[in-house]
Amino acid sequence: MSRFFSSKFLSLTPYTPGEQPKIMNLVKLNTNESPFPPSQKAVSAAVEAAEILQLYSDPTASTLTSKMAEILGVTPEQVLMTNGSDEILNFAFMAYCDKETSVAFPDITYGFYPVFAQLYNIDFEEIPLDENFRIRVSDYLGINKTIFIANPNAPTGIALSLAEIEEIVKSNPDNVVVIDEAYVDFGGESAVCLVDKYENLLVTGTFSKSRSMAGARLGFGVASKAIIQDLNTIKYSTNPYNINRMTMAAGIGALEDEEYTKANCNIICKNREYTVAELKKLGFEMTDSSANFIFAKHRTVSGSEIYTKLREKSILVRHFNAPRICEYNRITIGTREQMDKFLNAIREILEGK
Ligand code: PMP
Repeated sequence: MSRFFSSKFLSLTPYTPGEQPKIMNLVKLNTNESPFPPSQKAVSAAVEAAEILQLYSDPTASTLTSKMAEILGVTPEQVLMTNGSDEILNFAFMAYCDKETSVAFPDITYGFYPVFAQLYNIDFEEIPLDENFRIRVSDYLGINKTIFIANPNAPTGIALSLAEIEEIVKSNPDNVVVIDEAYVDFGGESAVCLVDKYENLLVTGTFSKSRSMAGARLGFGVASKAIIQDLNTIKYSTNPYNINRMTMAAGIGALEDEEYTKANCNIICKNREYTVAELKKLGFEMTDSSANFIFAKHRTVSGSEIYTKLREKSILVRHFNAPRICEYNRITIGTREQMDKFLNAIREILEGK
């Protein structure tokens, strides 16, 4: 650290992204990416856009925004496209949390929420999940705080129903409720259908998972026109050209190929059910996942041992050190071939005990 670093950041612990090692032949099941390439329509559109990178991108992202709005069944004024969904979450923290309005989210959830809260020096409450790692809806009713809920939640994969989400949104009419739907396409129920009914609801989404575009950085927010106006004020005060030309073109291409996205999501869901069934036979317990990952713990072997031994076999999963979840590993669902390699490695590890 230099001696010039602002004292307000001295205690900030930044977010730790999952590893992106450059090892060949690694079975990479640690950062919830898609195992499939992006749509060919996305790839060719990005290549074409690369030819005119001397020009700034469209700050309004109008074609992409309209296409996204059409797919979501809302108006373009209700959508903001961003540089990954991390950016819209960042904008929401800036716009809706401050000294007067603190923020609440589950104690076990996306690790970036507490980082944003610390970055902006906002008081935050981490509401414990119940003993089965479920969000207790009653804990969020009328709490008078800005609320962030990942639905399905990460790293548990457990989803709340649309009715439960509506209860939370409805009971906090004077606060914004952000529903982070990064993983919704793998079995969750989207709350986008509620944005016309509740002016305090902001739903966020990403192209990183179901649309195989994590490396492109494309996310979005859907809400009332007024909320999108607020978020645009933040966007134009930080990064007006937040989406680069190639990503914008790729995003439009991906949205023209929704069948490809749906087909991939179906395969992932099938592979998830297969992996869950096989792991159960091997003595694992898992949460009920509606996401493109599972959260698994073995009856006798520790979470860190499984993580380390898988790594020795060139299989990477995600292990968290937080005390409540240190016996678990989060395993991204890949292709059937990847899952078979993973399962065989697990069998070998257990046989070696
Ligand atoms: N929300 C959740 C719950 C996530 O797990 C992630 C990424 N892992 C994100 C948001 C951010 O995704 P991205 O910035 O790639 O859209």
